Amino acid sequence: MVCQSLILNQHIHIILNDHVSVTNIPTLNSLPGDSYLDQFAGKIVVIKYGGNAMTDKKAQAGVLEQVAVLKKAGVYPVVVHGGGPFIKALFDTSGIDSEFVEGHRITLKDSMEVVEQALSGKVNGMLVNLLNRLGANAVGLSGKDGGMVRALKRTHVIDGDRGNEEIDLGFVGDVELINTDLPHLLIDNGYLPVISPVSSGADGEDYNINADMFAGHMAGALGAAAFVAITNVDGLMEDPSAPESKIEAITADEARALFGSVIKGGMIPKVEACLIALEKGVPAAHIISGSTDNSILRQLLTNKTVGTLIN
Ligand code: ADP
Ligand code: MG
Repeated sequence: MVCQSLILNQHIHIILNDHVSVTNIPTLNSLPGDSYLDQFAGKIVVIKYGGNAMTDKKAQAGVLEQVAVLKKAGVYPVVVHGGGPFIKALFDTSGIDSEFVEGHRITLKDSMEVVEQALSGKVNGMLVNLLNRLGANAVGLSGKDGGMVRALKRTHVIDGDRGNEEIDLGFVGDVELINTDLPHLLIDNGYLPVISPVSSGADGEDYNINADMFAGHMAGALGAAAFVAITNVDGLMEDPSAPESKIEAITADEARALFGSVIKGGMIPKVEACLIALEKGVPAAHIISGSTDNSILRQLLTNKTVGTLIN
């Protein structure tokens, strides 16, 4: 009990302190439209940062600055990251080919090691370093740490020429179980968890869980106030080749109806992740571009949104 109240006091302390300083955060003051910051103060927001939105250094700095601003303003961000281009670069130097099935990377045993080096090593370390330079108190983890996420080999069924066909994706996993003790412990003590989706199964194998799916489950398990997927396009589009066809807001049922037609490739697990988060009680899921100025803050905290809202 003593411990709990200590943690509670610390929570309140952090929130109050940060509230006082909100007016001193120029980025927040410069946002257009109404501000909904109060709805998120003291709440967890799970941010999935896609690898394809990390390659432009300026955009990357912008994304991480916004994550740091959210934390300074008393919101509790949790970052889950992918790292597609970084995996590809390591695959290229190791002479490994990669192939995707409906947004999931087929991962053989020896390529799993390279995936882990890229995600839990290179990308995780890079994001933690950059966030800490912004004073965000980031801690790098993977699904393995503290037994946070247990993976189960994914059974992937596609709608093939001869009806439903099961495809073996190798060491691609689904989230089987989440234990949120560790992320809560970190958040309650002022740290920002930065999580690589690589996780182990009860069978002792390591699995590559698609970062979108991992993040959607994590948002649900943490009782997040919002799930935000940051990618390299402005949102879900009716025609992926036509940016002006971006959908501003859509219900979960409407989004579900778009599978098999307009939702393709990497957007499949992204929308699935949004639906998982919503099913698990997260009130809103967003898909935004990491290249648009202040996209996280605008989408989350204002009525001048920039991406796609699914709710
Ligand atoms: P990330 O690294 O952010 O996970 P992905 O490449 O896996 O990025 O997923 C985003 C990609 O999904 C976009 O770049 C786009 O090419 C593709 N995509 C497929 N269908 C759509 C759609 N309907 N609307 C927008 N993008 C789509
Ligand atoms: Mg992806």
